[in-house]
Amino acid sequence: MGNTFIEKLAQKLRIIPNLDRQGAEGAIGPLRAFPDPEEWHNHLELDANEWPKMVERRYSLVPTTCFNCESACGLLAYVDRDSGLVSKFEGNPHHPGSRGRNCAKGPATINQINDTERILHPMKRVGPRGEGEWERISWEVALEEISTKIRESLKTGAKDRVVYHVGRPGHEGYTNRILKAWGVDGHNSHTNICSAGARTGYALWHRHDRPSPDHANAKVILLTSSHLETGHYFNPHAQRILEGMMDGAKLIVIDPRLSNTAAMADHWLPTWPGSESALFLSWASMILERGLFDRDFVKDWVNWEEWMDAANPEENKDFDRFIELLRKEYSPYTPEFAANECRIPVEQVIEVGEIVASAGRRLSTHVWRAAAIGNLGGWRVSRTLHLLNVLTGSVGTEGGTSPNSWSKYKPDLFDIPPDPDGWNELHFPPEYTLSHYEMSHILPHLIKDGRGAMDVYFTRVFNPVWTYPDGFSWIEMLKNEDSVGCHIALTPTWNETAFFADYVLPMGHSSERHDVNSYATSSGKWVAFRQPVLREYARREGREVRFTHEVNPGEVWEEDEFWNELSWRIDDGTMGIRKHFMSPYRDGEMITIDEYYQYMFERIPGLPEAAEAEGTDPLGYMRKHGAFLIEEATYNKHEEDGWPTPSGKQELYSKSMVEFGYPEHSIPHYRVMSHVHPDNLKGEDEYCLLPNFRLPQHIHSRSANAKWLAEIAHRNPLWVHPTDASNLGVGDGELLKVETEIGWFIDKVWVTEGIKPGIIGCSHHIGRWRRKQDSGNRFMTNEVEIEELGEGRMRMRTVSGVRPWESDDPDTKRVWWRDGGVHQNITHAVQPDPISGAHCWLQKVKISRPVNGERYGDVEVDTRKSFEYYKKWNEMAKEKEVHPRGERRPLWMNRPLPPKKEHWFIHEED
Ligand code: SF4
Repeated sequence: MGNTFIEKLAQKLRIIPNLDRQGAEGAIGPLRAFPDPEEWHNHLELDANEWPKMVERRYSLVPTTCFNCESACGLLAYVDRDSGLVSKFEGNPHHPGSRGRNCAKGPATINQINDTERILHPMKRVGPRGEGEWERISWEVALEEISTKIRESLKTGAKDRVVYHVGRPGHEGYTNRILKAWGVDGHNSHTNICSAGARTGYALWHRHDRPSPDHANAKVILLTSSHLETGHYFNPHAQRILEGMMDGAKLIVIDPRLSNTAAMADHWLPTWPGSESALFLSWASMILERGLFDRDFVKDWVNWEEWMDAANPEENKDFDRFIELLRKEYSPYTPEFAANECRIPVEQVIEVGEIVASAGRRLSTHVWRAAAIGNLGGWRVSRTLHLLNVLTGSVGTEGGTSPNSWSKYKPDLFDIPPDPDGWNELHFPPEYTLSHYEMSHILPHLIKDGRGAMDVYFTRVFNPVWTYPDGFSWIEMLKNEDSVGCHIALTPTWNETAFFADYVLPMGHSSERHDVNSYATSSGKWVAFRQPVLREYARREGREVRFTHEVNPGEVWEEDEFWNELSWRIDDGTMGIRKHFMSPYRDGEMITIDEYYQYMFERIPGLPEAAEAEGTDPLGYMRKHGAFLIEEATYNKHEEDGWPTPSGKQELYSKSMVEFGYPEHSIPHYRVMSHVHPDNLKGEDEYCLLPNFRLPQHIHSRSANAKWLAEIAHRNPLWVHPTDASNLGVGDGELLKVETEIGWFIDKVWVTEGIKPGIIGCSHHIGRWRRKQDSGNRFMTNEVEIEELGEGRMRMRTVSGVRPWESDDPDTKRVWWRDGGVHQNITHAVQPDPISGAHCWLQKVKISRPVNGERYGDVEVDTRKSFEYYKKWNEMAKEKEVHPRGERRPLWMNRPLPPKKEHWFIHEED
């Protein structure tokens, strides 16, 4: 259609661009969806900043993946061919998970790489650990000194004193392979403050420990979390939820807080935290009562006969009788019971339950983090949620919920060293028999308890001093050289944990490193290639690069090459490590990073053929497109493979639960009272603190260097319901003191109906800090003073908030916000769930008005109290410690980096 007179006039006056103008190739032509990949090294477009002048820019578009959450959406780096620098990031339309779209954090990668305060060179501390004095060293010195320390530790024969502790992994199998090559049981993760609760509930059903909901094809989408769709998997899920809704799906959100997702829902159920399982069981009961269960699926794929044998041995193993008994078992979970536990109207329980019950095989459900990681017994949330999928037969179906491993590609590695020959009891202490991941959040407490120490401790994209509960105990551990012999922080940006390192080694952001990614963001299976874009640009320009740090800013490197070089040096020729780093293509020579990925990509089903069709090889294909779709959809795999559980079925009845001392949890029930159940909050001033919801603009503690994101969100006020605000006598902006079991913090109030009465909300992410002697992240950090008050009492006080500063980036002096929020996590007590091992994030708190000069941002913690409190929770696990047949944990249960099987036993059976 031609332009109107007004449009033509506006074009002439250059009020709107003349997009019809025919001009130079590439940029100025007819509108199109996206340039063809054949043109990606020679892309022309107009410079928007120069408007109304028509200034053309030449770009090389290089695909990579985002590293700012787990989703690994596709990014396209626009490398300016005149400057050789990255100008911006957009979405990569060839990526099957993100399909060209990103959230705000993807394009903000440009802020991270241009951060004027980033760490550009390897640093080594001078003076006492934590005092903030550093000297620049070369990679050569860093590699030599660190490899010597590791060699010394390994030569003692210890298998648990060299440890790699990871926040955001972002790769598939790379570091596990390295640790195996070193022969250590040295993998630690952040999972027990994140997803271990949900994983335990899912694993009990079918060993797979994560769900993959097919939102796009669902009839009913049921989301349970104050975390969803801001993290796992934010942009890929959000776009598919919208697709489902556009096709008529109903969206149900269970969350005590009106999240962005809840605000878009057909039904928002603001349940009391920890009551979710009561709701799901009442719906399960409704499905059974009304005969709406999927008879074929339950009969064929559930281990109902085992439950009959164990719980009702006198009965015939008749399916109808089983249903009758199950109906009876769940009959106490009436809508009234659920409504009472959840503190929501019974009419809402029934109305929404009917929608869920009618979903049939198209019920997509998801829970991650908050609801399942918040409470004592949080693992029940996923276990009872999955019960709804089982009863409706929506496990593994189109529009239902599949195990995430069906959609996840596991790479073939060129060499697999043997499993570690030892068991690290600092990571898997014997009393946590069912903990799904390492007990990482009580690491400082276990060490203080005299259970071990570390010679070499790597933290990698991991900031426990700030992110974890009880951060002062982390500082105490890190400052003590008897607990941690050497601490090496691998990080792209300064953080509160790196301040307490011996070496700080700069690692690349998403566009500065290699990784392979594959996540269950949809019903299909894909693989994506995170590549250092300036290295690929150099290759396209015909320049040879040996190591990625040659093209990155300063001397910023990447872990892949760093680990290889380090491993090579650890081995003095007697340790058998080097043999795991030999090229599969060149005899007797060390592998290169290109060979590592070449080997892997040559084995991806369908990729060699797709590459050949384009006249390239698999590595060439991935460099060019950045991603590859392996399977369109991965439904109903159980029909061929069954379920990887002891019974081969979905385990309604868990024999492991019985054997490991929890017979009351043999089938899904609501038999643990959350530590923040209303019955446990007795005083008028007692509330439940909901501290673990994410903001969609932030990246745990990796976005304080991203100016666009910091400008959008930089405060973490207390969400207080108007009724509570009135009872407390406070209004917007006034101060409240929040007292946890081990300390307190002072924050400002935000009065909002977006939070359930009785709950105080405070977002994760904000309240970052640096001391006078520390650097970095000034877009979002307060300058603080930390004072030891004696007898384990620690105080943190804000000296100044966020301020503008002069730098090479003119935006740093335009910073207009001053409030950097409050660090709340450091005042949280550790609360390890005795079954899942997960930290229970929700805190029972007392709320009052500040007194005696207590100021906004003040924080105080008693670390002696925190240790006593850890002991109290630890006792819960010790009381139940049982090891059937001497097993440390069920042999069928996953463990990251599993050691040799003989180490899974504490002792032989008597
Ligand atoms: S959803 Fe995650 S991976 Fe995707 S663009 Fe946002 S931060 Fe990056």
